[in-house]
Amino acid sequence: MSGERAPTAENPPVRRLADWSPERLRELADDHGTPLYVFDLDRARQNYRRMAEAFPEADVYYAAKANTARPVLQALADEGAGVECASAGELARALDAGVDGSHVHYTAVNPPDRDLDVAVRLAEEHPGVTITVGAEDTLDRLADRGYDGRICVRVNPGVGAGHHEKVTTGADAKFGVPYERAADLAESAAGAFEVVGIHAHAGSGISGEDLSAHRDLVGRMGELARDVEGRGIDLEFVDVGGGFGVPYSPDEDPLDLEAVAEATREALGETEATLAVEPGRYLVADAGVLLTSANTVKETPSGVVVGVGAGMTTLARPAIYDAHHEIRNVAPGADERPSREVTVAGPVCESGDSLGDHWLPDPQRGDLLAVGNAGAYGYEMASQYNSRPRPASVVSDGDDARLARRRETIADVTAVEPEVDR
Ligand SMILES: *Cc1c(COP(=O)(O)O)cnc(C)c1O
Repeated sequence: MSGERAPTAENPPVRRLADWSPERLRELADDHGTPLYVFDLDRARQNYRRMAEAFPEADVYYAAKANTARPVLQALADEGAGVECASAGELARALDAGVDGSHVHYTAVNPPDRDLDVAVRLAEEHPGVTITVGAEDTLDRLADRGYDGRICVRVNPGVGAGHHEKVTTGADAKFGVPYERAADLAESAAGAFEVVGIHAHAGSGISGEDLSAHRDLVGRMGELARDVEGRGIDLEFVDVGGGFGVPYSPDEDPLDLEAVAEATREALGETEATLAVEPGRYLVADAGVLLTSANTVKETPSGVVVGVGAGMTTLARPAIYDAHHEIRNVAPGADERPSREVTVAGPVCESGDSLGDHWLPDPQRGDLLAVGNAGAYGYEMASQYNSRPRPASVVSDGDDARLARRRETIADVTAVEPEVDR
């Protein structure tokens, strides 16, 4: 690892929505239509570099579920990132994108048989893949399939962090084997598999205030590593998961990555194993925006409603997590208009289908709106509910922009249905 200590002027700790060029965004919307996800590969590279520089001793695995677009996986892998996969589908995509098996972890959460079939086959074809198991019987199911390769034990650390109860996983019994059972399990698994790591993920939302929860988790993992090593198992890595927060509001400070890294090192303590981290959101959130157009502007007794093309099927986070995403009116000359508070609502027949209330330069029909921090868990959580085709997504790389996913059509929505005689 070389170069200056992050963050630097060339690599600020956060890219705000206001930093995106409105001209460029309008150009992309003209070329590709809306709703449109726009992703800047350079920003994801910068985020990776800051993370790698803050954790020079650690292996950084990108949690692919935040954004699985192939150019994103490739750009981060080219920077040196490994990839953490949450399903057989993600595993296939990471390997298809050319990521070396030895840089890929597959985290099996209550895995369906089909996922295990695929994972075992792919692990045979790509030596070095590590399968992370969070339940004892997953080991039996792997053994039944003839697997005897690399295993990491996912632990339920009993502590969690998260900006919303639905993203706090650390203390949720669904994830990982109970902490008290983990060392015994690692020991017994070592007879049949190659036990290479232990893992925990506390949820999404490590922030300045949340460092104590992170410290607890890492401290417990350090203790467990020493216990496991004491039983004669040489761990390659101790993976303390992701959850590195990003500011969703303009007045929120970015995470002090150096402080998190320092706390992590301190809490982990002595171990021969290499530290591993799994940032998802942190690497990609501020590298993406969602563009949408104002279709309707309606005065109502309770305020102004701006109807836009992007709804909960395009960006689900506001509806699922009450997440706040900044919105900017990037129409030409919009900045000169007076601002007003408006509700930005999508086209789905659900009252929860709203991108929230925002102060915006007086929106007019046809205006282009940009939604910030849409690079993580944006396209990935898009659905076809209401028979709404999923949007297009483009990646820009310097001056180039190319399609990562074409816009779906109604024919794509119905393509999986058997033909019926009418
Ligand atoms: C989702 C997930 C991550 C990434 O979480 P972020 O909040 O996006 O950093 C990392 N590890 C595991 C196991 C996950 O499930």
